[in-house]
Amino acid sequence: MKTDLQFKLDFNPENPLRQAFSEGRFAFILEVDPPCPGIGAAEQQTALDGLATWSASQPDIAAFFVTDRLFDENSRATPHLLGRLRQLHGKSPIATISGRDLDPSRLPETLGSYASEEVKNIFACSGHWLAQGRLHVDGVETIRSGKSLGLPLFCGAAVNPFKYNVNDVYGQYLKMILKVNAGADFIVTQAGWDMRKYHELARFCSLREVSVPIVARLALVGEAEVPRIAAGGLVPGAHVSQGFAAQLQRELQSRPQFMSVQLKRLSLQAAGCALMGYNAVQIRGLRNAAEAATVLDTCRKVRSQFASFGAWLEAWKDFHHGTSMTPANHHFYIYRQSDRRRDDPENAEPEFAMVEADFDYPLSGLLWRNRFARLLKVEHMPGRKGQWLRQFLCGGEQRTDLRATQYVCLESCPKKLVHGPCGGSRLDGSCEVEAELPCIHNTRLGVAAWNNQLDLLEQAIKAPSASDS
Ligand code: SF4
Repeated sequence: MKTDLQFKLDFNPENPLRQAFSEGRFAFILEVDPPCPGIGAAEQQTALDGLATWSASQPDIAAFFVTDRLFDENSRATPHLLGRLRQLHGKSPIATISGRDLDPSRLPETLGSYASEEVKNIFACSGHWLAQGRLHVDGVETIRSGKSLGLPLFCGAAVNPFKYNVNDVYGQYLKMILKVNAGADFIVTQAGWDMRKYHELARFCSLREVSVPIVARLALVGEAEVPRIAAGGLVPGAHVSQGFAAQLQRELQSRPQFMSVQLKRLSLQAAGCALMGYNAVQIRGLRNAAEAATVLDTCRKVRSQFASFGAWLEAWKDFHHGTSMTPANHHFYIYRQSDRRRDDPENAEPEFAMVEADFDYPLSGLLWRNRFARLLKVEHMPGRKGQWLRQFLCGGEQRTDLRATQYVCLESCPKKLVHGPCGGSRLDGSCEVEAELPCIHNTRLGVAAWNNQLDLLEQAIKAPSASDS
């Protein structure tokens, strides 16, 4: 596609992250938060510079992943910061492009500004909820824009496997496929501690022949993060079990050992992900070069200790003394857990047996209204009668084609996402923002499942333009 961009673009194909993936080398990615302007910013920048300089000599660190306004609105992944990291580390970082407050009409300019700093990797996501009225651009749109502009960007997208009801689980995985169909070059998971969910995603990708690299995001838990994780998860929608939350709190009480326990857990997770077939692990929570050196050395050593998946699984279970990682009352996994010891990760039987998905269908009244909307082709009906019928049968008027959303109006999504769910839904499948409402994308998925149309959820929708809003 022809573009008017006048940026200094580097079309040099060398990109260590892409190279590691294409050569099948297991890689480490270090996740960092940008320093916030104000008190302590200089110290944060110095630590970040030290980390980048140290990691330049570590061949298995393929890239830095820089978050964008993850927990603080002022913690911004600016092109300047990314350019500085690239110079110190000697490899292109991954720039997060959060869709929160992103002006879709300025996407080409935003993407071009990273490309002109020779940033070759981006990670596109819709961003966490902050307040009503803030615009959220779906990561799908960011990826499409980067691809259609012909920019030399290697594009990552998110998936949250830490979901425990049927609609939520399939909503995440079908949207992941949609993102790959839209051009995503690699996928990064949310961070969690339920290794059976990491395994589920790896199995799902292999069964559905999702051929792009998959990165497991892992978090080194710091003392300050325990309350947040115990209250639900590292970020909204990445759920943890009460048993695990209680274990973390007990570990916090025995402070002298706290960090060594976290380090051991993280190293075990990294080893498990490597055995499951992940292409890389992305580690967040490292504050300086000394911590990173300890963590990576331990991860490398622990990885080499396990010859088989079965041996690793025993060690992981022993480490947690049988603590369940599944949140109570919510426990859907796509694959049945086998009691058989699994020494050969390539052996698909019997653990690849799929569990029958008992979808949460909408109430019969909504299904009937949905059927009438299809029969009447309400999308074509003019005037007030058409408006009234769309309101009554589909739930409202929407800016995208109702046929593409199974005649479910998606306008009630507070983030105004049209391609599928964000990762933030609550344990019972209700909306991250309004707990009394179901995530509207789960309702759409229920309708699609009822009509045997789940495959349609793997296709992106023509998004409304700014003038439609
Ligand atoms: S409706 Fe669903 S996709 Fe939209 S904000 Fe709520 S949880 Fe996220």
